[in-house]
Amino acid sequence: MTRDEIGAWLRERDPRRLEALWAEADATRRARVGDDVHLRGLAEISNYCVRGCLYCGLRAGAGGPERYRLTRGEILECAAAAKALGYGTLVMQSGEDPGLSREFVADVVREVKRRFGLAVTLSLGERSDEDTLAWREAGADRYLLRFETSDPDLYAAVHPDLPGKVSDRVAQLLRLRAQGYEIGSGVMVGLPGQTWEILAGDIALFAELDLDMIGVGPFLPSPRTPLGGAAADALRARAGAEQVPNDEETALKVVALTRLACPAANIPSTTALATIDPTQGREMGLTRGANVVMPNVTPPSRRVLYEIYPGKACVTETAEACSGCLAWRIARIGRRVGTGPGGRRR
Ligand code: SAM
Ligand code: SF4
Repeated sequence: MTRDEIGAWLRERDPRRLEALWAEADATRRARVGDDVHLRGLAEISNYCVRGCLYCGLRAGAGGPERYRLTRGEILECAAAAKALGYGTLVMQSGEDPGLSREFVADVVREVKRRFGLAVTLSLGERSDEDTLAWREAGADRYLLRFETSDPDLYAAVHPDLPGKVSDRVAQLLRLRAQGYEIGSGVMVGLPGQTWEILAGDIALFAELDLDMIGVGPFLPSPRTPLGGAAADALRARAGAEQVPNDEETALKVVALTRLACPAANIPSTTALATIDPTQGREMGLTRGANVVMPNVTPPSRRVLYEIYPGKACVTETAEACSGCLAWRIARIGRRVGTGPGGRRR
């Protein structure tokens, strides 16, 4: 698909044409990655963050949530829960937190691999090449780093550099791949300032980078952040009539087009999708191209503090309750829970 074709599909409103898009995405998903839905246990290991991303409720500064960092023992309990529930992967995610030292993370990764034999995915922000190499050598398999937008001006506006350090997530993804990681990225749909043209470029870039994993979900405004207020209005005004809405249908179009552009990638049905449609958002993603879900295994008392945006789905359930709910949701759409690490199929 060319960028223009992607753009035309993104703007499509005709329900019959959209039915054809959903069907093609679902058929491609079945043919290329099968009916298994891979479950990845998500451990939110720290909500400290040094960055000031304008969209995110964990951003540094006053007005953020009460901060926490899980101990080694607590992370290993998350891994034990993931293993007990039959998940093949532990995803360790956090704000960009220098308090998570190179040695600490490497030790935990080594221990998770040794004790539980799980695949390990890291999503710890823009860390140094020395850090990510040490974690790879400790056994980490995959790294998630969303590039957020392929438009350099919009990126600079919503994702400020740290002093003396220019942020280039695409370049970092390529270095992570060279270190031997499977790489995952993605964007928010309906980010203020995001036009149809920019979003089409994002999907084209997923394909160009040949990403192993791609996470897309709607942008959900947080009142704790600049993009929960006037700064969002200014960016939306800049995009004008071309501003992409942050609604469910548009997010699902992006999931479906991502499957068509990247047929063999692992694509989650995201928590953000489940948040805007708690009744059937997960299923909608899974039947329009997605093949992965990331149930939360963070202790519920900490999970409520990992508040990227308000009203996040599944924050109060225990890991066991999430697992039971997902198994039911997967069975009811005629799919099955995957076994094993569920890495990229080649
Ligand atoms: N700190 C790491 C990073 O930035 O890569 C990982 C954690 S960060 C919270 C994970 C993702 O959450 C970001 O890449 C971003 O796309 C998404 N996110 C942040 N704020 C959001 C919002 N308001 N609505 C939807 N998704 C959001
Ligand atoms: Fe920090 Fe990640 Fe949120 Fe940016 S998106 S403020 S790096 S947690």
